[in-house]
Amino acid sequence: MVAARVILVGFAVAIFHFMLQLITILNRCHRFPGFVYQKAGFSSDHKSIEIAMRPRKGSKAICSRCHQPAPGYDQLVERRFEFIPFWGFLVFLLYSMRRVDCRRCQAVVVEEVPWADGKRTLTKAYMLFLARWARRLSWKETAEAFRTSWDKVFDAVEHVVTWGLQHRVLGQIDAIGVDEIQYAKGHKYLTLVYQIDLGVTRLLWVGKERTIESFQGFFTAMGKDVISKIVFVCSDMWEPYLKLIRENCSEALHILDRFHIVANMNKALDNVRAEETSRMKREGRAPVLKKSRWLLLRRSENLGAEQHFRLRDLLRYNLKTVRAYLLKEAFQQLWEYSSPAWAGKFLDEWCRQTMRSRIEPMKKIARSLRQHRELILNYFRAQKLLSSGVVEGLNNKAKVTMRKSYGFRTYRVLELALYHSLGKLPEPDSTHDFF
Ligand SMILES: [Zn+2]
Repeated sequence: MVAARVILVGFAVAIFHFMLQLITILNRCHRFPGFVYQKAGFSSDHKSIEIAMRPRKGSKAICSRCHQPAPGYDQLVERRFEFIPFWGFLVFLLYSMRRVDCRRCQAVVVEEVPWADGKRTLTKAYMLFLARWARRLSWKETAEAFRTSWDKVFDAVEHVVTWGLQHRVLGQIDAIGVDEIQYAKGHKYLTLVYQIDLGVTRLLWVGKERTIESFQGFFTAMGKDVISKIVFVCSDMWEPYLKLIRENCSEALHILDRFHIVANMNKALDNVRAEETSRMKREGRAPVLKKSRWLLLRRSENLGAEQHFRLRDLLRYNLKTVRAYLLKEAFQQLWEYSSPAWAGKFLDEWCRQTMRSRIEPMKKIARSLRQHRELILNYFRAQKLLSSGVVEGLNNKAKVTMRKSYGFRTYRVLELALYHSLGKLPEPDSTHDFF
């Protein structure tokens, strides 16, 4: 009986010392002038650790509106600020916010505290911690790993991204790439603008929809100073983009994106194939085009031996699909040129042949290429420096991010997730690296 009591008392003393140690540790890594850690203890259910804070004696509260010290007015009820969990315990800082009677603002205003942003119950340190993990894991996995909710992970990322966007340095931007990405069924698109300089590739801007109004937002957000110095612009043939780029970056060399030209050509070929397949079926002919889709869309050097054999077999038929395929394959040669003049000659000849092919989807491509001839040749003028590979790579990363992030496929979630993983944004300052 006595022994049991001794053990219990010993245990209580150990916990007491541990809590003191905790305060020492916090003073080392999360210390703020004007505030002191008062005491630490377990919550009544023993599931979390609570650390009481108070203002240092004689320190003045800071007005959260004008960020200047102001005379005290009163004190609000205690608030719990969520801190980084520790050994499986949730950790909370407890603090009663003061209100100040600010003469400058001529109002009674709640004080500003350095560990929180005034809106959220998560501490800044915890938000940075969660946001960093949310870049490696999905938001859902992050919430599960730290026993918090998806909404809090969202709050954390929003805080860090907002700070990052306010504090990022745009500097000189030489080249940008514009792209779009579908984010939900029913033609819901995002417009993404990347910086694609040789040294820096990052996401600069995300816009809802792909309209003139939305894309104009990019030029407004960046400001005339940055925009006027852009030298290269890479984009696909979406007309609203072209128009705005012409208006805003009149000095820049506009480059049509190789990736998009190839993608459009594949789409045209696919249409020819689908149309011809159903026509042959109607006419009761042998289904030679069956299962030929990937055979025709893939680059021939990426085919296996058996597929090669099937493709050779298929090419013996005099079909529209086959002629379209050969035109598409022949077009690849364009990218081998290094001189804009020779590339131009090749392009003209290819368009001439294609216009005589009597294959409407391919003729449509040729017309579009003719119309954008100078933009395409800019690709060669820029000496392939800014190959679309960069934009394509960034776009693939964007798609992976979109798959990972949510939750809910709302525009706001996607916007935050994309800036967070591709924006290379600066992070808020921290009293300590908690990792
Ligand atoms: Zn004030």
